[in-house]
Amino acid sequence: MTLHTKQLFHTKCAICDTEGNSTELYGASFEPESLDSVKFSARRVPDKTHYRIVKCNGCGLIRSDPVVSADIAAGLYHQSSFKYEDEVQNLKITYGKYLKKLTKYGLVKESILEIGCGNGFFLEYAKNFGFAHICGIDPSEDAISKASHDIKQHIICDMIKPGKFQPESFDVICFFQLIDHIYDVGSLLKECYRLLKPGGLILCINHNVGAMSSRLLGEHSPIFDIEHTYLFDESTLSKVFLANNFIVKEVGPALNRISLNYLNHLLPLPSQFKTAVSSFLKYTKVAAASFFLPLGNIYIIAQKPKGTQ
Ligand SMILES: [Zn+2]
Repeated sequence: MTLHTKQLFHTKCAICDTEGNSTELYGASFEPESLDSVKFSARRVPDKTHYRIVKCNGCGLIRSDPVVSADIAAGLYHQSSFKYEDEVQNLKITYGKYLKKLTKYGLVKESILEIGCGNGFFLEYAKNFGFAHICGIDPSEDAISKASHDIKQHIICDMIKPGKFQPESFDVICFFQLIDHIYDVGSLLKECYRLLKPGGLILCINHNVGAMSSRLLGEHSPIFDIEHTYLFDESTLSKVFLANNFIVKEVGPALNRISLNYLNHLLPLPSQFKTAVSSFLKYTKVAAASFFLPLGNIYIIAQKPKGTQ
């Protein structure tokens, strides 16, 4: 599939709802004519392919502009494959650590929805953590096919959209490394608001464009990626939740539990070098050694006000 220039569309600021009114940070790193599903689906190898990156003059939110249409992106996600298996145990520990923080805010372990749940590893964690009802939604057939038997029945293969679930049916909604990819963040948060019970909580973890790593690497940071429509820091992530009527309980840098091998995979170094390091790590059997690191992520805990409809 070849995508043509005319199929690129301007994006709006997810906080100010304005088109334009922005300053270019980086030009697009590719010719739009060369964009195809292969380039797009080189998903998990940071390959420095990004759209033109701009910063909103009104609120400071960073976004890709222009981008391919939402329909084309949805098709590409549907075909995309799931490559996180090696890190699933560490991601469970990372996300689980932040799920436990919700207990401070009157967590009810009745029903939880994870948007973009992949193979459902976090839903499995949530179930063991004591949630009575777990539910996940993800557009990737490949990811869902890798879910364990008793988790798979709780996953819907689709993109989240209005009307998919009953209003006020969840106590908690989680999404990890998702909000950066969403074209219409306002619609996503409005739908979450509708689906949450009053006092219900959201836990969201994603890349932090304000982190030291992305400041140091600039355009070479792997977070400037064709898959990311919006890039948030603590300030802009708070603002987008506040703009959608949530109460922000906590926001801050998230620590990731990560293995040495995966850290090597993420580093902005030549692939031949990384392959050599990876072989060495596996040979010395330290590849799986893991620790907590501030890897340039951010978390937010937000609440739907109690006593609202
Ligand atoms: Zn703005």
